[in-house]
Amino acid sequence: MSTFLAKSFETIVAYRPGEQLGDDYLKLNANESSQEPSPRVLEVLKNAQNLNYYNDPCQHKLRQKLADLHSLDKTNVIVGTGADDVLDLIFRTFFERGDKLAFPKVTYPFYKGYADTFGYDALEVPLTKDLRVDLSDYEKLPHAVIVVNPDAPTGFLKPLSAIKKLLVSNPERLVIVDEAYIDFGGDSQSAIPLVEEFSNLIVVRTFSKSRQLAGGRIGYAVACKELIKDMEDLKMTVNPFNVSLLQEEVALASLEDEFHFERHVKEIIENRDFLTSALRILGFKVLNSKTNFIYASSPVISGEELYEKLRERHILVRRYDIAEVKDYVRITIGTKQEMHRLVSEVDAILKEKDHVKSVNF
Ligand code: PMP
Repeated sequence: MSTFLAKSFETIVAYRPGEQLGDDYLKLNANESSQEPSPRVLEVLKNAQNLNYYNDPCQHKLRQKLADLHSLDKTNVIVGTGADDVLDLIFRTFFERGDKLAFPKVTYPFYKGYADTFGYDALEVPLTKDLRVDLSDYEKLPHAVIVVNPDAPTGFLKPLSAIKKLLVSNPERLVIVDEAYIDFGGDSQSAIPLVEEFSNLIVVRTFSKSRQLAGGRIGYAVACKELIKDMEDLKMTVNPFNVSLLQEEVALASLEDEFHFERHVKEIIENRDFLTSALRILGFKVLNSKTNFIYASSPVISGEELYEKLRERHILVRRYDIAEVKDYVRITIGTKQEMHRLVSEVDAILKEKDHVKSVNF
């Protein structure tokens, strides 16, 4: 720590994203895509021009395209450098030290890290016994709320009716719905169609998952135009050129290739179904996921041991050291071949423990 570090940051515990250990590891730990984005994206990168000029700080073209996608107006959309950047902008615009913010005890760790760093009064609401988020637990709270739909890391999809009930329960309270994984089968429950009706709703999306652009860093928020205007004003004041020309062009190219997008999503859903059934045959409890990952636990091996044994075999998965979910591992869905490799390694690990006979997948 340097002597210049601001006092309020002295106790920061830095967030550790999923490990990046080199190409000889199968990476199933960060909910990325193991396949390339649309060829149109790669084409745009090859032909990049105009980098000698500043980019459009308002991302007019991309915002219009996203507005068209969601049947909204450009003034309902703001773009950022990944969903994390958008969440950062939301927090900086609408929250200050001491403000109340509630989110589930087991969720995307970014929220807790952010709230602690900037001194919010954070409330971590326990999950139900079956690891679900019950939004009625939040209705009476005076706190702003973060809802992740589908949930991370469980993958459960919540009905839109529950989110609507939360919005109605207190129109004075801001509700942020993080839909990072909604494209993998959850779209019918998206809160985006509600943004014009509810002035206390912000929906966050990312290109990192379903559009295979985790390294491209593109995210966006959708909300009523007053909320977006507040965010836009703050962004223009502190970091107007945050989304580069390349990011905007890449995002546009991705949105122009819906065929590639739909084929990718379909493949992930098929591979998710395969992995879910295969692990269930091996005795795992696998939660019903509507995301590009599954959350699974075995009665015969601890989450920690499975994580370590897979790592020894050069497969990385994710695990959280939180009591309620310590025996679960989160596994990103990859190609069919990768899923077969994972299942046969898990099978071998269980056989080593001598509990399960080999199964032919
Ligand atoms: N929200 C959730 C629930 C996530 O899991 C993640 C990243 N894994 C993000 C937001 C951030 O996504 P991005 O890569 O767009 O910053």
